[in-house]
Amino acid sequence: MTLKILEDRLSSIAFKGKEARSRVSCGKNSVSGAVSQRACVFCGARVVLNPITDAFHLVHGPIGCASYTWDIRGSLSSGSQLYRHSFSTDLKEKDVVFGGAEKLEAAVREIVEKYQPPLIFIYSTCLVGVIGDDVEAVCRKAESQYGIRVINVKAPGFAGHKAMGYRLASEAIMKLISREPEVPKEKFGVNILGDYNLAGEAWIIGNYLKEIGVPVVTTFTGDSTCASLRRSLGALLNVVQCAGSMMYLAKGMEESFDIPFIKASFFGLADTKSALLKIADLIGSKEVRRKAAILCHRETEKAQRELSPYLPKLKGKKAAIFVGGGFKAISLMRQFEELGMETVLVGTQTGTSEDYEVIASLASKGTVILDDANPSELESFMRQKGADILVGGVKERPLAYKLGIAFCDHNHERKIPLSGFTGAVNFTKEINLSINSPVWAHLRKKPSLGIWS
Ligand code: SF4
Repeated sequence: MTLKILEDRLSSIAFKGKEARSRVSCGKNSVSGAVSQRACVFCGARVVLNPITDAFHLVHGPIGCASYTWDIRGSLSSGSQLYRHSFSTDLKEKDVVFGGAEKLEAAVREIVEKYQPPLIFIYSTCLVGVIGDDVEAVCRKAESQYGIRVINVKAPGFAGHKAMGYRLASEAIMKLISREPEVPKEKFGVNILGDYNLAGEAWIIGNYLKEIGVPVVTTFTGDSTCASLRRSLGALLNVVQCAGSMMYLAKGMEESFDIPFIKASFFGLADTKSALLKIADLIGSKEVRRKAAILCHRETEKAQRELSPYLPKLKGKKAAIFVGGGFKAISLMRQFEELGMETVLVGTQTGTSEDYEVIASLASKGTVILDDANPSELESFMRQKGADILVGGVKERPLAYKLGIAFCDHNHERKIPLSGFTGAVNFTKEINLSINSPVWAHLRKKPSLGIWS
């Protein structure tokens, strides 16, 4: 099969072991016309901040931007449900001509009167970036008038890509916590950064940590509240789960508040065990270390017993991975190795050169590694490599199904927790269910003959 790749995209694609060039170029703006799978700057900021459950998320822009709602980040809450609503100033033609600041002021007033939230985020989207409303002035005025925090997230979609939105969200969080007076330190307390409590994952990890005697002060931002984020400065350590979205915040908190950070993945048996033991080591308590070792031993044995019936059914199958961040892609490669499967394609939307170095070191010969891929490239390489399953998000799902390839949702919308020991078992069951479904035999003929229907 002839692969048609845009010339400007060639440096973002590599084949492990086939070329002298071992690195893919990354961190750039998407190539014009390449139909990137990446979301816009506003979406990047919104997905990070939206799980703050008692905050009010107001989208200042046309109503279309407000279609990014709780549905694209199905994080769960143990308290307020305010974050599940979507609010917009719904800018129209008249606002473009005369400005939308008055409308925004009126919206903030209405929100304060009806909901009394402790915190409002105002997301300024593309249109506001063009007409130039002074949103900062509206925020300052509202803060002094109502005595709550009102933070502008200046996120016009056209200003870059999703990763820039992550950075803007981190800056907004820094603005929120920086004004806190001295926060007392919590014994052995940690913050988890980059867990969005999808399907209750933050609760699973929180329970492991609780069992070993390590309290979670707050999670950024799954099931968090304005008050819990403010207490975050009482933690001894930041544990970064999703490095793609949270490295900027982790570095900022280290520089400004002297809270060190580690990267730790809770996807897969090996990574979860290593994350818990690493945290226990850094906490520096023998008792915590002892409890962590007991928990890891018990849960690993239990999970392995549950996994073992599936291993013969998965052995030798080929996986393609296309996810948001590099850290998740790395964990998934390790998980597939644990299951005896081969990763034949791995790509991310916002991976860093450091991530791609690790990916290249884990990949087997011939694995396709690609940054900011588009559907055409994914299709071509999955066919060429004979992938049996694609792990990705909502935008990749139709592509896999149209090709007659099994699919596993590892993105914001999923309803099954995939973190921790429990999540590793769920992941295996889901991969098995999808990959060994009898439906594929009816949809797909021999790919070696190039016949797919
Ligand atoms: S690209 Fe611009 S207009 Fe589209 S959703 Fe993002 S912020 Fe809104």
